[in-house]
Amino acid sequence: MGLLPHVKGIYRDDLMKMAGRETSEPNVDGVLLSHAHSDHADYISFLHEKIPIYMGETCHLILQALEERSNREIEREILSFNKRPYNRKEEPIRRKVTTFRTGHRIKIGSLEIEPIHVDHSVPGAYGFIIYTSEGPIGYTGDIRMHGTRPEMTMEFIEKAKNEKLVTLITEGTRIADETRNESEELVFDDSKKIITETNRLVLVDFNFKDVDRFRTFYKIASESDRKIVIKLNDAYFLKHLSKDPNLNIPNFDNENILIYLPKRRSGSYQDSDYYVRDHEFVHSANTSTADQIAKNEGKVLCAMGFYSFTVLIDMKPKPGASYIHSASEPFNEEQEISQERRNAWTEHFGMREFQCHCSGHARSTDLIQIIEQINARTVYPIHTIHPEISLCSTLCL
Ligand SMILES: [Zn+2]
Ligand SMILES: [Zn+2]
Repeated sequence: MGLLPHVKGIYRDDLMKMAGRETSEPNVDGVLLSHAHSDHADYISFLHEKIPIYMGETCHLILQALEERSNREIEREILSFNKRPYNRKEEPIRRKVTTFRTGHRIKIGSLEIEPIHVDHSVPGAYGFIIYTSEGPIGYTGDIRMHGTRPEMTMEFIEKAKNEKLVTLITEGTRIADETRNESEELVFDDSKKIITETNRLVLVDFNFKDVDRFRTFYKIASESDRKIVIKLNDAYFLKHLSKDPNLNIPNFDNENILIYLPKRRSGSYQDSDYYVRDHEFVHSANTSTADQIAKNEGKVLCAMGFYSFTVLIDMKPKPGASYIHSASEPFNEEQEISQERRNAWTEHFGMREFQCHCSGHARSTDLIQIIEQINARTVYPIHTIHPEISLCSTLCL
């Protein structure tokens, strides 16, 4: 369907054969992954296994969590893949992964690369300075200045500025958006107010890879005498990310956490109802069923979003329960339709809806400042639906 470009020497042989195309030896020396978000990582799935992948250590932990929790899907074979046609007996092929931390120097072919941590809505996010024979090239990755760790983004800017870049490849997600007041602190304050003012059930909808947001709601829960309820699938993130001492987040069996035990198959919480891979969480002492949650509605904070709304059927929230949407507002037609469906659910259960979010991407004014400070000879805007907005025209607005 033309969703992937036809580039010779990068794709997996098994897929090329299935598509009736010619296979070829890979001619790429390495892929640098800036962070673990789907729009950056998922299509590694299609790459030839001989192409080495470089990523931050924390990014690797997130991808391990994702791999462990999900069934094999063609777009989710990032760290390893099963050859197609699929043969159950064949072991998955593991990709060559090299991990780094900020300040390391990596050599790929004739290039030297320095990854530098940046602040984004997922931990383990990096920008890169790539030293080439034509001069240094910078890539921002996805960045922001208004998050919890602006000093990390500043480090990247300083380094990029000092290196006098010939080229800056920059993200431009929000270049055309109006600037508004936003911060993780505001998300904390607004959400805490909503949560402490009710003794009904509260659902919070956020991306679990956003560790800042998890910390925000974890802290609100503990300060408002509630326990945070997580889904089986999200327990994998805590299991892996709690290994990173820099992140300082609890493991899934922490006393302030409850793991939601959904009704599956028999509907009677039998062991055999759950995937074997989920058993370590299912057998954890801190699981909680819909009935138990309903009985303690004022003592829990459910980290469950739209895609888990069927839990409401079992939890039967009393009117006046709250739903906090803590993700970006709809920016395309598809998401508007999702919002309509979401509204239909919350309306049905008489729930109050709130929006509390701070973006993972720099505001346009911050982005312009970053680009000006780095002052590269050439700027390539990527990761934007408005590449036509040149810096000059933006400044003239
Ligand atoms: Zn991202
Ligand atoms: Zn992105």
